[in-house]
Amino acid sequence: MAKFSLLILPGDGIGPEVMVEVRKIIDWFMSNRGLDFDVTEDLVGGAAYDAHGTPLHDDTMVKALDVDAVLLGAVGGPKYDDLDFSRKPERGLLRLRKEMDLYSNLRPAQCFDALADFSSLKPEVVSGLDIMIVRELTSGIYFGEPRGIITEGNERVGINTQRYTESEIERVARSAFELARRRDNRVCSMEKANVMESGVLWRETVDKIHQAEYSDVELSHMYADAGAMQLCRWPKQFDVIVTDNLFGDILSDTAAMLTGSLGMLPSASLGAPMENGRPKALYEPVHGSAPDITGQGKANPIACILSFAMALRYSFDEGAEADRLEQSIENVLSKGARTHDLLGEEGITPLSTSKMGDAIVDALTESL
Ligand code: NAD
Repeated sequence: MAKFSLLILPGDGIGPEVMVEVRKIIDWFMSNRGLDFDVTEDLVGGAAYDAHGTPLHDDTMVKALDVDAVLLGAVGGPKYDDLDFSRKPERGLLRLRKEMDLYSNLRPAQCFDALADFSSLKPEVVSGLDIMIVRELTSGIYFGEPRGIITEGNERVGINTQRYTESEIERVARSAFELARRRDNRVCSMEKANVMESGVLWRETVDKIHQAEYSDVELSHMYADAGAMQLCRWPKQFDVIVTDNLFGDILSDTAAMLTGSLGMLPSASLGAPMENGRPKALYEPVHGSAPDITGQGKANPIACILSFAMALRYSFDEGAEADRLEQSIENVLSKGARTHDLLGEEGITPLSTSKMGDAIVDALTESL
């Protein structure tokens, strides 16, 4: 039996194109580093709708719950814009996240030195940046009841409710502390305890878990609005940031853009530990299906390859191999290799999706 099981869901648009490059990387690790993957591939999003009339077939959901990790490309596209809400490609992704109960969303903001000029901030502010935002993903104001638009007197009122239970805060706090122990051992928790009761409970609960289980990790607290300012002023002060669903949505997008292109951004969503001790996990690039460049060989495969690097680190306990892969990407970029989305300087001929994948495979071989 293979040591690791991986379900690949390429999805729509550029999803299948970037996933071809990830398959090259997986093959390289199997041939050269003795990693043993049982890889299966299935449909999600529009591709699943075309084949089965649903954006995620029940059989695919069963497989996703059974494997060590799921790696997804992207879903969606204009072809599916007029579908009923329940059949839209995005519903496939949402079903995966919900049924796998993926409550901890990891969004790294990592700046490769060769791309420091791509940031809207000064190169010295972002060069060498490596922070991780942990966003609570399954609760908070996007899910709380009551919600809706009601009529009061002669005007309408929009209502959403921020609601967190202690256990929801505890589990995402543990996830952040565990991550910090594998990194620089520092967590900054962000909320608005000055104006929100849910923020007071958030802060008290993070403190409680810290004192009881993770007192070796350095913990600080910051109001989320001040945190947003600090992220833009001096992001390198942070290691792991843990925050709720709403603030995490905004702060992770802010942090991501410190580092340049959408084509470079990976993510992971983790759930409770399974019987083998590994968390349920879904890895995916942050970008969408990019219909404007689909089929043209212009997609940057690095976000999806970096998502696989996260799987190596967090699902397969192969941190050294994840480092090797990230370093190989850094080496390729520092030699000047660029895909279309990374063109800044004049006179550079961009690499196609496939050629970028090949260059990373070559750099991996050079690392031996
Ligand atoms: P997008 O991320 O697909 O594209 C935004 C822009 O970034 C486009 O110009 C695109 O060409 C570029 N881009 C994105 N990824 C790139 C890559 N790897 N290499 C080079 N350039 C890249 O966002 P969008 O245009 O708003 O959405 C397109 C479709 O994707 C929609 O149907 C949307 O619903 C869906 N979507 C899916 C996900 C997901 O699967 N997680 C996320 C966001 C959007």
